[in-house]
Amino acid sequence: MTDGTRSDGPPHHAARPGRDAVVIGGGLAGVTAALALADAGVRVTLLEGRPRLGGLAFSFRRGALTVDNGQHVYLRCCTAYRWFLDRIQAADLAPLQSRLDVPVVDAGKPEGRRLGRLRRDALPVPLHLGRSLATYPHLSLAERAKVGRAALALKGLDLTDPALDDQDFGSWLAAHGQSARAVEALWDLVGVATLNAVAGDASLGLAAMVFKTGLLSDPGAADIGWASVPLGDLHDRLARKALETAGVRIGLRTRVTSISIDENGRWSVQVPGDTLTADAVVLAVPQRETYDLLPPGALDAPERLLDIGTAPILNVHVVYDRPVLHAPFFAALGTPVQWVFDRTEASGLSGGGQYLALSQSAAQDDIDRPVAELRERYLPELGRLLPHTRHAEVLDFFVTRERTATFAPTPGVGRLRPGARTKAPGLYLAGAWTATGWPATMESAVRSGVSAAEAALGALGRPRPRHLFAFEEAA
Ligand SMILES: Cc1cc2nc3c(=O)[nH]c(=O)nc-3n(C[C@H](O)[C@H](O)[C@H](O)COP(=O)(O)OP(=O)(O)OC[C@H]3O[C@@H](n4cnc5c(N)ncnc54)[C@H](O)[C@@H]3O)c2cc1C
Repeated sequence: MTDGTRSDGPPHHAARPGRDAVVIGGGLAGVTAALALADAGVRVTLLEGRPRLGGLAFSFRRGALTVDNGQHVYLRCCTAYRWFLDRIQAADLAPLQSRLDVPVVDAGKPEGRRLGRLRRDALPVPLHLGRSLATYPHLSLAERAKVGRAALALKGLDLTDPALDDQDFGSWLAAHGQSARAVEALWDLVGVATLNAVAGDASLGLAAMVFKTGLLSDPGAADIGWASVPLGDLHDRLARKALETAGVRIGLRTRVTSISIDENGRWSVQVPGDTLTADAVVLAVPQRETYDLLPPGALDAPERLLDIGTAPILNVHVVYDRPVLHAPFFAALGTPVQWVFDRTEASGLSGGGQYLALSQSAAQDDIDRPVAELRERYLPELGRLLPHTRHAEVLDFFVTRERTATFAPTPGVGRLRPGARTKAPGLYLAGAWTATGWPATMESAVRSGVSAAEAALGALGRPRPRHLFAFEEAA
């Protein structure tokens, strides 16, 4: 690669003195690290094995449709991801709700489906959710009162206490008076979508972090945002534009096979047919690939990376010949369906039909079922949730499976997640799975990229760019 515009194939780097960094992995963590380093004046090369940037959050074409591999949402409290959207000039394309408002449809009642809402008022925490909770029809009066008490107990937990990570959230909820129904209709409704695990399988530390930050910090913290365009427009097209403008050289379809450091402290990065050299390397790949690439001695117990489990997410995509849902999204109870989003406009569907994407987290039971079986399982459920579908024709039905969508947020996982610094000078780790304190989210990925870049800049003696996301501002 001789200039900053070529973005296919391995870049050709002449070894030269100076401050060079190679970032390996073009997911949100790697893109963030590359942008932050380039903004500080470092010469950066970003290497990505696939033909596109965006990692686990991407789009592809299916006939006339542009499809996201999985519905992605973020919350107003995701300050790092919001900084990222601003940095790539995409904030307008992924707007936030002005105020949290989630329709929750219960299809499990013999008398028919029932609609409730989780929304906030313009009141201070925790009163902002008080009215919504007091009138939430999917819980009994007694359950609502107990939810309030558990929320206050949760608010009192000290997130810096490592013992929280050893407990599971389900047991803690049971010990705080939460019925199975309250777990299903409230705690898991939010928790499964954000943690990718049911309460019984989730670390109390991570769950407390999510609920405290999202629901019990700032009144607007849980307002939901999502892309009104395909994810690839943000995480590939606009991210690439921002990187190229910042002078980052991008090598797509360039899988790194090994990295090593010489006696002068300079790194060599092997790609098929070429070797790149650098003063600093940011490894922003999943934990398994990190383990494979880590040079000896870089971490005290690298095999721990392999103990970090993974969890699947399934998306079920249905195109109807007519509108069947008159809301941008809703959550469901009393059915295997979890969250349903209207993707019609974002996908470019025309002709009067409607395209729905069902986002199914913690999808261990479904992830390997054949498409025909998933069709039989989900279409009748949509019929129960959305009566208009009963008269509509299904024009297309397909699924996207992400078997390793996130790390599994199991109790004890916190001890396994390494920070950005390694014992190898000039080698830094990034990825949603590293020790950000957040579950595997876009927010975690961006935070990890910022942390890795900051550590690398410190070692390279470069000042931190002034506009870089600052964690303390978000606290
Ligand atoms: C279906 C689905 C739904 C999700 N929903 C949400 C949501 O609603 N909200 C939310 O915040 N998060 C969500 N997530 C999680 C979010 O997408 C991820 O946490 C985040 O994108 C991870 O980014 P990353 O950069 O850490 O890792 P990745 O995206 O995994 O990026 C790593 C990159 O490294 C590349 N790579 C690997 N090995 C090499 C190598 N040897 N050489 C070069 N490149 C290599 C890979 O190709 C990949 O592009 C969802 C994920 C999925 C799959």
